[in-house]
Amino acid sequence: MKNAKCLENDFIDKPELTAFVREVVLPGSSDVVPKLDLRSCRYDLTYHPSPIHRWGIFAAENIPARRTVIEYTGQKIDARETQRRLFRQHMYIFRLNRKWAIDGAIGGIGAEFINHSCNPNLYVRLRSGRIFLISCRRIASGEELTYDYNILYNGVDIPCSCGTKKCRGIINRKA
Ligand SMILES: [Zn+2]
Repeated sequence: MKNAKCLENDFIDKPELTAFVREVVLPGSSDVVPKLDLRSCRYDLTYHPSPIHRWGIFAAENIPARRTVIEYTGQKIDARETQRRLFRQHMYIFRLNRKWAIDGAIGGIGAEFINHSCNPNLYVRLRSGRIFLISCRRIASGEELTYDYNILYNGVDIPCSCGTKKCRGIINRKA
C-alpha cells in the first residue's frame, strides 16, 4: 500500500457521536476548529473556512519553492487502531504503510487540516517514518495549502471540489 491520507470513510453517513465517544472512547477526535501550532510550523500560516472543504490552512507569508512547510505530526497508531478510528465523523489519519499510520487528531500541529487538491502546491516526503509537506512551487501569501491525498481507488468515488483546471473530479486515483 502506498502512503496516503486516509479518507475513504469520510463520505459515508455515520451516526453523530456522543460527547462520551468523542472525548473518551476516541480521544482527540477534533471535529471543530483547527489547532495550528505556529511554534512548530516553519512558516507563518493561518486557518479559515475553505472553498474546498470545511477548514483550510493558508499561507500567511510568501513561501519559496522546495521548502519544508509543515510536518504532519500526530499519534502513531497501527492498522487495527486505524480501523477503530474510522468511525469518526472526520478523518485526520495519514497512512505511512500497511502497518502504521499517523493520527493528526492527537498531537497534530495543523497539517491534518490541509485539504486535497488535484493540482496542489505541496507534496509529501517521508523521512524515517515522519511525514513532511514540501512546497512544489512558490506559494503566495493568502493561498490555501493543498497536497494530493494519493488515495487509491477502492470502488467508491470520493468527490473532489478543489476547483482547479486539472481536477480529476474525484480525490482518489484510478491507478
Ligand atoms: Zn480535484
